[in-house]
Amino acid sequence: MSQPDLFPAALPPAPDRKAGLSRLKAFTPAMGRAYASARNFDLGPQDRSNISCLSAHVRHRLVQEAELAQAALSAHGLQAAEKFIQEVCWRTYWKGWLELRSAVWADYKAEREQAFKAVSEDQALAQRYEAAIEGRTGLEGFDAWATELMQTGYLHNHARMWFASIWIFTLDLPWVLGADHFLRHLIDGDAASNTLSWRWVGGLQTVGKTYLARASNIEKYTKGRFAPDPASLAPEAPALPSVHPVPSPGAILPGERPDPSLPSALWLHDEDLHAESWGVEDVDIRCVIYPSSPASRGEAGLGEVARRFSKAALEDGAQRAAGRFGVKAVAADSVADQIEAARSSNVRQLITQRPCQGGVRDERLKAQERIEASGLRVVSLTRDWDQAFHPFATKGFFKFKTAIPDVFTRLGLN
Ligand SMILES: Cc1cc2nc3c(=O)[nH]c(=O)nc-3n(C[C@H](O)[C@H](O)[C@H](O)COP(=O)(O)OP(=O)(O)OC[C@H]3O[C@@H](n4cnc5c(N)ncnc54)[C@H](O)[C@@H]3O)c2cc1C
Repeated sequence: MSQPDLFPAALPPAPDRKAGLSRLKAFTPAMGRAYASARNFDLGPQDRSNISCLSAHVRHRLVQEAELAQAALSAHGLQAAEKFIQEVCWRTYWKGWLELRSAVWADYKAEREQAFKAVSEDQALAQRYEAAIEGRTGLEGFDAWATELMQTGYLHNHARMWFASIWIFTLDLPWVLGADHFLRHLIDGDAASNTLSWRWVGGLQTVGKTYLARASNIEKYTKGRFAPDPASLAPEAPALPSVHPVPSPGAILPGERPDPSLPSALWLHDEDLHAESWGVEDVDIRCVIYPSSPASRGEAGLGEVARRFSKAALEDGAQRAAGRFGVKAVAADSVADQIEAARSSNVRQLITQRPCQGGVRDERLKAQERIEASGLRVVSLTRDWDQAFHPFATKGFFKFKTAIPDVFTRLGLN
């Protein structure tokens, strides 16, 4: 069998900042009213002209949310670009929401573990699960999206909604297994956007609201590429039973400041790969330390396409940062090697961006403990965008989006 072309000339763009910026430039004219009217159509993997396809770049922060917002504002103004800007802010809302409720991520991981245990004990469930992830259910549309995900690491937003809805309500599979499959195979796999979108489809996120995939909607928004038999899909979407109550919002941790008198290293991870905009020009940077492999996104391992994207993004981020500060980039995967890399450059302080709730943070917290125990200082920065927006994620998106104009003014976007 021939290998799929992992990064075809089409979209998403190659896993580096240059390709991301080039796509941003090309898509900017379409960020206005054209985006609002066309974005819901899934035209297929060969035609992503109606959406930016930049989510994996934003996920790795090869390109910043603020850069997307500024491009849309400059070209179209807030009113005409409202829809595009709101979509960018949905991502920020989900991240802020999870940041304020870390127990939801912990509950997801516990439930996922139980679901995999059930799969290992129940042969019928295991067969249904495998048929779904391998695209062998016989359901038109669903099987094609399952294959597309494995081959490209990407699905259109509407396809993600249909897929999740069919997974939960037609195939009657545990939602956490679907969320795990997406998180490990999407090149933009993000703990907050993914977990909370799956919860939203299943009726766990917004009380009384679920998402039902309808055959007519699939046919319309795929322009007839798929026309499933209506009788093959669940006729209704009753909300999943809530296992854990939604916790009240906690607090957002403030960003820390590096000590400019200490020789330092930039300590990268795969969620923030634009160290050139970390605001550390006044610090004595001696080297860049980065893992050559991305952080885990689930026990069953990262999908090959997603792994290759993140690995290439890490390399790109490390080389750019090294070039910007005129230092060397050291690939170090184990914590012991990272400590050694710091020591051999006489570094006393590691500067990083604090990862949001999710697998990267889980790994980083463990590593940080050992690094600090070795006598090195670790400083966690936070981006102005996150610091300004996350506190507004206390309730629903409606309240959150009303804050957008004021936050943009504070951030100097206009
Ligand atoms: C079940 C499910 C799982 C999802 N899992 C992820 C995930 O793991 N990672 C992820 O980045 N997105 C996820 N999304 C959101 C959304 O599908 C993708 O962000 C979007 O399809 C990316 O395509 P794009 O870059 O062309 O978006 P565009 O339409 O061009 O939007 C611009 C940017 O806005 C953000 N965005 C757009 N739509 C959404 C949305 N609905 N929610 C949050 N952010 C959005 C993305 O960063 C995107 O790059 C999920 C949605 C669903 C329904």
